[in-house]
Amino acid sequence: MSAKSLKQGDAFLQCQGCKKILFRVDFEQNLHVCGYCNHHHRIPALTRMRWTFDEDSFEELDTDLRSLDTLKFPEYAEKLVAAEEKTRMHDSIVSGRAKLDDMPVSVAVADFSFMGGSMGSVAGEKITRTLERAAQQRIPAIIFCASGGARMQEGILSLMQMAKTSAAVQQCREVGVPYICVFTDPTMAGVLASYASIADVIVAEPKSLVGFAGARVAKQAGVGKVPDDFQTAEFVFKHGMIDAIVPRKEMRATLTSLVKTLGGHLFLSLGSVVKEKMA
Ligand SMILES: [Zn+2]
Repeated sequence: MSAKSLKQGDAFLQCQGCKKILFRVDFEQNLHVCGYCNHHHRIPALTRMRWTFDEDSFEELDTDLRSLDTLKFPEYAEKLVAAEEKTRMHDSIVSGRAKLDDMPVSVAVADFSFMGGSMGSVAGEKITRTLERAAQQRIPAIIFCASGGARMQEGILSLMQMAKTSAAVQQCREVGVPYICVFTDPTMAGVLASYASIADVIVAEPKSLVGFAGARVAKQAGVGKVPDDFQTAEFVFKHGMIDAIVPRKEMRATLTSLVKTLGGHLFLSLGSVVKEKMA
């Protein structure tokens, strides 16, 4: 959750984790992480791009894609308009190209504030294109997740994105380009069960909710009592599902190091050769 303003434009905010009052200046400097309890508040996709990749290196692509209300689902069209007005985004994913320490990467970042970051046809297409560009241009792919799952208003069309995005991951694998996925709060359901969990390297922000069906659904399904830390990044890390838990302050350095380790500087030259051949 984003930190709550006590008053519009106020100098103080309330942490959504420990509920303590925070100075806005300190909060901003701390990348929206609470200095008391380490709660990582949700942030807009473009803010994350700015904080993660080289300054002014992000170039947005796929900007012409718009969701359609194919099924005429009740109130979906109105919800899309309201989400666009609220977030000034056209869907829950921002995708394009960026650089990490001058190494080119194909990137997509989810924004939970657009209909819970849900994956419909447009979000699925943007993820697919991000992975396909990585494969075609021989550059690493980095995707940040923040989603409650598939977008129910698009029915089977949204579920189909799970297969489509997973197939795009395979394209990267076939040409040997690395795909790194970052789980942020929350990474759930259809997103976790498709492109998110099959990355080459998976890291997560602390305490992010990570799971398929939520704790309430699991209890209803007769699982019984679940552990207190059920479906947290720490819980899934303990069970070997992710590779590391990385605080937001260390995310840029960690991703840079991963891309270098996985051969990002080689992709820098190889990517330009492939681009020349494609031109
Ligand atoms: Zn706190």
